[in-house]
Amino acid sequence: MGNVEEVIVVGGGIGGLAATYGIAKLGKKVTVLEQAPEFGEVGAGLQVGPNGLRALDALGVLEEVYKLGVFPRRHVFMDALDGKELSAVQFGESFEKSFGYPYLVIHRSDLHSVLLKACQKLTNITFLTNHKLASIEELSNYVELRCENGEVLRGETVVGADGIHSVARQLVNPASKPVASRYVAYRFTVPMEEMTINIDWDEKLTWIGPGIHLVQYPVRHKSVINQVAVFKSNSYNEETGDWGSIDELREMFADCCPTMQESLKFVQEGFVSRLHDIEPLEKWSTNRVTLLGDGAHAMLQYLAQGACQALEDAVCLVEKLGANGSNVAKALNEYQQERIPRTAEIQRGARTWGEIKHAEDPATRLLRDTIMLNRSADDYTYLEWLYKERKLTSV
Ligand SMILES: Cc1cc2nc3c(=O)[nH]c(=O)nc-3n(C[C@H](O)[C@H](O)[C@H](O)COP(=O)(O)OP(=O)(O)OC[C@H]3O[C@@H](n4cnc5c(N)ncnc54)[C@H](O)[C@@H]3O)c2cc1C
Repeated sequence: MGNVEEVIVVGGGIGGLAATYGIAKLGKKVTVLEQAPEFGEVGAGLQVGPNGLRALDALGVLEEVYKLGVFPRRHVFMDALDGKELSAVQFGESFEKSFGYPYLVIHRSDLHSVLLKACQKLTNITFLTNHKLASIEELSNYVELRCENGEVLRGETVVGADGIHSVARQLVNPASKPVASRYVAYRFTVPMEEMTINIDWDEKLTWIGPGIHLVQYPVRHKSVINQVAVFKSNSYNEETGDWGSIDELREMFADCCPTMQESLKFVQEGFVSRLHDIEPLEKWSTNRVTLLGDGAHAMLQYLAQGACQALEDAVCLVEKLGANGSNVAKALNEYQQERIPRTAEIQRGARTWGEIKHAEDPATRLLRDTIMLNRSADDYTYLEWLYKERKLTSV
């Protein structure tokens, strides 16, 4: 039998690198496989709520993240059609007092590079790029991983952090498939100096309307505005996979207020995501293999929690591996037991919040807007289930 690695992490995204770093800090040897020629991130901005920051703190990288992030003053919900403010969440002192951490927005590649640099400082991590996992088999003493480049690796423990189309998930849950939401997201950034619209860029904005929304916030020391335009595609066709063109986007946003029209001038082909999630799984782990991040619980992005949950997963997995010594099967079982209920609730909540945000029926919109207009900016009760303190040990 050839060499058997102690731990193999499949996927070097935010979730995979957070897990790699934490597990390596336990003193284990970790090999991280990435399909791409380089470790990196696609897309632009990422919102990190207090729970995500708590996980980054537990991993020991929060200070570096704070240097690169932006702390918005408020999250403001605007009516996409008439351009009026509907509601806001006040960040700052009272928010931080409630949840222990602030609210941060950051360029994805900045967060990814903090994790990558932290990993690169440890000598017990092996980085393998151009290694796309093709198949995975669990045998009694090890797990065998076959890569598309022909290489075969063996690992005592394997963490599948390989995203929504996870190959590792095929071993644990072969029936699980991505579910199309019929919504499309265009992500695009605009240099601040080119932004002609009159907006307070100390705030994060979400414009909501029937079947559409637009999110805007600054990243990179407020030099760049990150924008995400989301709409329900009427040309949805899972077979061809090319639904949701820019022309369709323009049609869907045609009735929006002038400020939004101005913002959408910058939309580009390129960073388009046809939005999928997966149904919550009942099982993430076998004796030697477990799942993490989108591979375990891909969710719609409407609560801005996918990466935050991947970070929470990483911290929990490290805690369980650390606490159970050589009994990996027990650690992986405890990990799934703790994480599945939490992430399933958020997967379901994200679907519901998407329906509320995109409501088309006038009665539903009236009800939603009345509730939003009547809540106060420092009423955080409806955010507690997402952000509240959860016990995390530093790893
Ligand atoms: C429009 C949009 C906005 C979002 N906004 C937010 C937000 O504000 N806040 C938030 O918390 N979340 C947000 N998310 C969700 C977030 O992007 C994801 O949940 C997060 O990136 C998942 O991280 P991951 O590491 O689990 O998976 P991924 O980021 O998908 O990383 C998987 C990695 O594995 C590699 N890989 C895949 N397959 C293989 C293979 N077979 N072999 C080897 N390597 C492989 C990939 O190349 C990649 O590097 C958003 C998502 C979208 C679509």
